[in-house]
Amino acid sequence: MILNLYHKIKHKWMKLRLQPIRVFCLHHVCKTYDETTMYQGDWMQIDEFKAKVLSMQQNGVEFISLSDAYKHICNDHVRCKKYAVLAFDDGYASLKEILPWFEEQQIPATLFINGKYLDGKSYRKNPNEKYLIKEELFSLTSPLIEIGSHGWEHKRATEMTAEEFAESVKRNIGLLSGHPNYIPFWAYTYGSHSNNTDDYLHRQGLVPIYIDGMKNYNEIKVIHRELL
Ligand SMILES: [Zn+2]
Repeated sequence: MILNLYHKIKHKWMKLRLQPIRVFCLHHVCKTYDETTMYQGDWMQIDEFKAKVLSMQQNGVEFISLSDAYKHICNDHVRCKKYAVLAFDDGYASLKEILPWFEEQQIPATLFINGKYLDGKSYRKNPNEKYLIKEELFSLTSPLIEIGSHGWEHKRATEMTAEEFAESVKRNIGLLSGHPNYIPFWAYTYGSHSNNTDDYLHRQGLVPIYIDGMKNYNEIKVIHRELL
């Protein structure tokens, strides 16, 4: 009872001194929704997206890279500024529409990539999906772009054996760590994770990333994400 109260007060105090860092999860941001290559829930109209980002900036939000966000999460004792991160999953080819705007606006973004799809083929349910190919991904060397992991294939971590998960980590990191902008962060596909997969990632020096709608304060073992 007293311990509970102590934790409640501690948590309140933490929220008072630390502005949360929001990490947003996105997929397709482009002009037109194409039902043959996209799932509607994964698509945001590009002008709507730009308006949202600009309006957040006008409201004092600074968009920073995931690496910088993590440094803040690890080191800040007091945080007054509102920071946010934009992160795109799956490495779809539609990214080519929005990436030039990030350069123009000097806004950083993180891409979470499945290594297997960089050969340009789709192995997923929708065979028409279009992905960035390896040459395209490896030519993204702007300091604004960071490359993290989303698994070798787009499979749920909790539906793999420990060996399969370890192999997925090994293969994906083996490929992506050759990218000059690689960062050791692992965004779980579908947010599917367990204590075992988290422990494994930690042992490999990777920070697990959930998609649980939560914001980040000072927890260094995991990054939380939400939808924009
Ligand atoms: Zn995904």
